[in-house]
Amino acid sequence: MNTLETDISFLKGVGPKRAELLNKELGIFTCGDLLQQYPHRYIDKTQFHKVSTLHQESGEVQLRGILRRLLPVGEGRKKRLTGRFRDDTGAIDLVWFSGVNFLQKQLEVGKEYVIYGRVNAFRDKLSLPHPEMELANPDKIKEAASFAPVYPSTEKLNTKGLDARNRRRIMAALLEKIKPEDISENLPAYIVKKFKFPSRYEAMRAIHFPKSEEQLQQVRNRLKFEELFFLQLRLLQIRRRRDAIKGFNFEQVGDQFMHFFNHKLPFQLTGAQKRVLREIRRDLGKGIQMNRLLQGDVGSGKTIVGLMSMLLAIDNGFQACLMAPTEILAQQHYKSISEYLEGMNLNVGFLSGSVKGKKRKVLLEALKNGEINILIGTHALLEPPVVFQNLGLAITDEQHRFGVAQRAKLWKKSNPYPPHVLVMTATPIPRTLAMTLYGDLDVSVIDELPPGRKAIQTLHKTENNRLRVIGFMRQEIAKGRQVYVVFPLIEESETLDLQNLEDGYESLHREFPRPDYQISVVHGRMKSADKDFEMQRFVEGKTQIMVATTVIEVGVNVPNASVMVIENTERFGLSQLHQLRGRVGRGAEQSFCILMSSFKLSKEGKERIQTMVRTNNGFDIAEADLRLRGPGNIEGTQQSGILNFRIADLAQDGQILQTAREIAARILDDDPKFERPEHHPVKWYLDKHGKKLRGWSRIS
Ligand code: ADP
Ligand code: MG
Repeated sequence: MNTLETDISFLKGVGPKRAELLNKELGIFTCGDLLQQYPHRYIDKTQFHKVSTLHQESGEVQLRGILRRLLPVGEGRKKRLTGRFRDDTGAIDLVWFSGVNFLQKQLEVGKEYVIYGRVNAFRDKLSLPHPEMELANPDKIKEAASFAPVYPSTEKLNTKGLDARNRRRIMAALLEKIKPEDISENLPAYIVKKFKFPSRYEAMRAIHFPKSEEQLQQVRNRLKFEELFFLQLRLLQIRRRRDAIKGFNFEQVGDQFMHFFNHKLPFQLTGAQKRVLREIRRDLGKGIQMNRLLQGDVGSGKTIVGLMSMLLAIDNGFQACLMAPTEILAQQHYKSISEYLEGMNLNVGFLSGSVKGKKRKVLLEALKNGEINILIGTHALLEPPVVFQNLGLAITDEQHRFGVAQRAKLWKKSNPYPPHVLVMTATPIPRTLAMTLYGDLDVSVIDELPPGRKAIQTLHKTENNRLRVIGFMRQEIAKGRQVYVVFPLIEESETLDLQNLEDGYESLHREFPRPDYQISVVHGRMKSADKDFEMQRFVEGKTQIMVATTVIEVGVNVPNASVMVIENTERFGLSQLHQLRGRVGRGAEQSFCILMSSFKLSKEGKERIQTMVRTNNGFDIAEADLRLRGPGNIEGTQQSGILNFRIADLAQDGQILQTAREIAARILDDDPKFERPEHHPVKWYLDKHGKKLRGWSRIS
């Protein structure tokens, strides 16, 4: 039997109790699981520090010297073990808060030790809490002189005998058992050769105990490549299978499209809009169902691209629909699209939960008999009573949450093929993420704003600038503009946040008293009718200030609102800030975004705000977000297990990802069934592990 498939409880140093802990805490069951939990960092054992050179920021250090004293202090829960450690330059205190009795028996005063720990500073006094202690044996020091792995761990593991040192010992025991035939190669030999990769066997060993920085780099590259390669291979396979799903063929660019283009379009399309329209048009004429994601910054003009795609559907005898996540947004689309199409003899319908009774009945009838060409609305469109005569194209706007279930509903709405689908989003996703999250979708990007936009000016202010910010708001309102004031609302602290917002609302009323000033307020706890009412007052210009939580994030268009003040900016994510900021800068006036924060900020908080001040480009911001917070925190990606990599890191490994994807595509082109001998390793591995990489075909 392959060693990797054996249960970890049989491994030296594990046993049933520790095995259970590893099962529960880390999901490790077999030796293979254990082997593939790679270290998240290493301790450099090649360097020894001297006590006299240590300081507050020294971090993790290795020292060599004599244990001078060992003394338990305190009672009960406060009981701890203290020690004194001296090398030829000075002495430092050691302290342990757990395992006191055990350590006291084990450690020997007067003996020479090699110790590791993280330097702690308390009131300028340095100490080493919980150092790892190993008797200094002259032969061993040489042997140990490399990098020691540190594994992801938990409090429980650390206190129940599976601390860093024991994990290392167990791993060493495992590596002793593993033979080359246990770890077969899974990459084609020509690739291993081309990139000078170590073998899989060597890589899996050396990732745990690398001999040098250089070797570590090589094995890391190999394992990252391997991980990304198989993921991309699977995604491309799914996509190719999807390309076999038949769809309606929109052969012609007809009268409606041409008439609109020549006579109605109120501006010149940007280069990016034209390019994306060509991409969509090509998709629609292939006889294959389209699944395209359209990314474009706020204000980049996605709506018109969507509209013109719908005209293509109409020209080919089909109906089209456009869905938005909120009633307000859907109504805005309805209004602007109706205006664009005025005088073109096309019927545009509106449907949401609020359309009821006779009105609804008439609408549904007209939809069914084909009188309605374009239906705009909320998710109410997906409900079973909504029947189209022949739906050819469905567009969703600002939808990160258009999931598999909704897609299934949509597919039922047309016959014999599913409708073409275009998903529009203003949440830019860095390229590396898009390749992974949407690796099975086609992605179009509008990366150019219409000409003549005045860039939004973004400023960072702290509490002591408050009065001037208020003065500035007054000044802009006097010019006839409107202002958003945005408060964070995060679920865990909802009550507190709500209080915050209400206090903010009160104090704004003091600064901007009635009847000269009117203030709207909108937050997530309000009834939707109240929300709409307040929002509507602002849209119509009856209120000058809108106090809100992030509910205004999505899509709302009030061109006259030219100032946005964001409170507690440090609590927002970058992408969210960018979305919010996109609510201003929609009219002809110079717009401003003022980011308020406390004076004291974390390094990351500062960097986030500086990024916002520096750039208006959503893709730059998304890249920065990815770098600062990691892929798991990017908007819209939270629940997708797809981003749980063993070793790859999308924030850093863009180049490896790109290469892995290209090679995967080439292999699928040349030898899709992996029949050639050189591709047998790939086939073997996919057959064995491919199932784990299933089910990502989706629009989300
Ligand atoms: P978003 O991509 O955020 O949905 P919209 O489609 O709402 O952007 O467009 C924002 C504004 O820009 C609208 O008022 C629209 O009429 C205008 N617009 C779109 N394309 C162009 C263009 N090529 N030239 C000038 N204005 C444009
Ligand atoms: Mg839009």
